[in-house]
Amino acid sequence: MSADPALGEYVPTVGGDNSQLPGMGGVFNYVNMHLYHYAGDNPVKYTDPDGKRVITVQEKNLISEVIGYDIGNIRIFGLKKSGISLPFGFIGTIQHTLESPYSSNEINSLFIHEAFHQFQYSKSFFNFFRLIGEQILRIFGVNVYDYGKDAFSSGNSNIQSLDDIKYLEGRAEFVQDFAQSYLSYQEYQAKADGAALFPDLQEQYQSLADRAKASAGKYADVLSNSGLTSTAIEAMRTPTIEGGD
Ligand SMILES: [Zn+2]
Repeated sequence: MSADPALGEYVPTVGGDNSQLPGMGGVFNYVNMHLYHYAGDNPVKYTDPDGKRVITVQEKNLISEVIGYDIGNIRIFGLKKSGISLPFGFIGTIQHTLESPYSSNEINSLFIHEAFHQFQYSKSFFNFFRLIGEQILRIFGVNVYDYGKDAFSSGNSNIQSLDDIKYLEGRAEFVQDFAQSYLSYQEYQAKADGAALFPDLQEQYQSLADRAKASAGKYADVLSNSGLTSTAIEAMRTPTIEGGD
């Protein structure tokens, strides 16, 4: 039995006042009953910033690397790494499996899309209702993802900041596209660097890496204009030339 002296306060009792209990959370998972256990007893793999659920350390780091959003202080509503996202990120997503048809970059960028919704809610809870409204519009055939992506990728876009994108869902899509380009860049660059002994292969990977980087750069400029900062955005955006003479 647990050595936790407060255990009696959060185990439901028959006839007791259970209204202040935190829900069907960690206490119902026996691993969490132990005083010295943390993050599913696997802290190398998981982190548990709010004590309500565990996510992988890698997932947490990736989110702040790409969108600069520290999920450490904010509750994630059932957010799960996913291959399929439900209409509302807050409800969560269907947990991906190894059989997922998506590449890990696609899954990770979907995950970042959902995390960005959390970021949107953290800015204004009104966004939560706005997003629900958008999903209802979507049911009626309105393309809430549309932000002129083709125009953007061909360089003719009027999009200077995320505010130029009408729908919150479209903004999350935009961030997702940035994540996808950025992750592809990293993947191809690592392959190019690792293929030094095979010049033909290296050249192929390098050209893919350069293309992904150029794409990520265009997205990063817009995100930077929107006031977002992160390691990835800083690394990808077109450097501004310091003025002065
Ligand atoms: Zn979304």
